Amino acid sequence: MNITDDTLRQAADFLAAGELVAFPTETVYGLGADAFNPAALARVFEVKRRPRFDPLIIHISGLEDLERVADIASLTPLVRKQAADLCRCLWPGPLTLILPKIPSVPDLATSGLPTVAVRFPAHPIAQKLIRLLNRAVAAPSANPFGYLSPTSAEHVREQLGDQIAMILDGGPADIGVESTVLDLAGSTPRILRPGGTPKERIEAVIGPLEAGETSESAIPCSPGQLKNHYAPKIPLILHGQAEMSSVPYNRSEGYLFFSSDSRSRWTKTQQPDLDGEGESRIRTLSEAGNMPEAAANLFKTLHELDKLEIFAIHAEQVPNAGLGNAVNDRLFRGAAVPFPEQNCR
Ligand code: AMP
Ligand code: MG
Repeated sequence: MNITDDTLRQAADFLAAGELVAFPTETVYGLGADAFNPAALARVFEVKRRPRFDPLIIHISGLEDLERVADIASLTPLVRKQAADLCRCLWPGPLTLILPKIPSVPDLATSGLPTVAVRFPAHPIAQKLIRLLNRAVAAPSANPFGYLSPTSAEHVREQLGDQIAMILDGGPADIGVESTVLDLAGSTPRILRPGGTPKERIEAVIGPLEAGETSESAIPCSPGQLKNHYAPKIPLILHGQAEMSSVPYNRSEGYLFFSSDSRSRWTKTQQPDLDGEGESRIRTLSEAGNMPEAAANLFKTLHELDKLEIFAIHAEQVPNAGLGNAVNDRLFRGAAVPFPEQNCR
């Protein structure tokens, strides 16, 4: 967590040499590669075992760098203003914009699409690293494709540690869910993936968004749109808030509650007879029911439960407002039954 200028310099040198470096962002840890080096991008797909149809988010370290990846001039005046307002109000932060790309952005970064996903992260280590490289950094979450996202350097070490040049440890991620992906390249702005920037904040800047956020059949097929994603190894079973208290207690299963209130409703109904081990299988995302805290604890808690010797994890949905939208989205996709890639083109 004590990242010196020398360490950052070394990390930037690795990136410049085509190596991969994991680094902290305010959302989750990213697996960084020089966005303009196709060989390095190919390594990202290989290390993550990520399908090539699944485009990467390109990270920049200042508003002035946007035009190094996006073709702003081709936007209509209205969309250009929407993009400018969003950048001014919500960047740096957990918001990714889909914009037309400039020709020099490699096809591997965008999976051959004419658009590019761009984000200006708020984390100072991410910003410094990108600035030192002096080029944009492509960075998907630093986890094997489809698995729980990493919210600490330890998660990255466990999952990809032996395959990458360096991991910068910036402590636990503040927000804990990925960025919101907003498509500005279509006929009307549309959220492709709910995330760290609640819809309400986007609407406060550019006005109401059309209903019906993510469409499963939407093209491109993005990981945030795949039904089975963000999944633990142990089956995750998702229950409505009202249903959770009637989920029977089984000592060889795990339970994930939103708050201590919902946990006590369940305890009253099920009266579980808990020993120490039983206790360790029952987790609460935020005692006080605080949504930012719940989001920050989501992947960490799922990682912990995934390491226990249990047969299933029962989780309850959280209130569906603000960041709760992103938390429910991750729970929903983590719980989905895998389905083959034929849904994607
Ligand atoms: P990850 O980096 O793993 O958090 O996922 C990146 C997210 O951005 C996914 O949902 C991607 O599919 C989405 N994305 C990246 N580039 C594009 C693009 N050009 N068009 C639509 N979605 C994109
Ligand atoms: Mg990911």
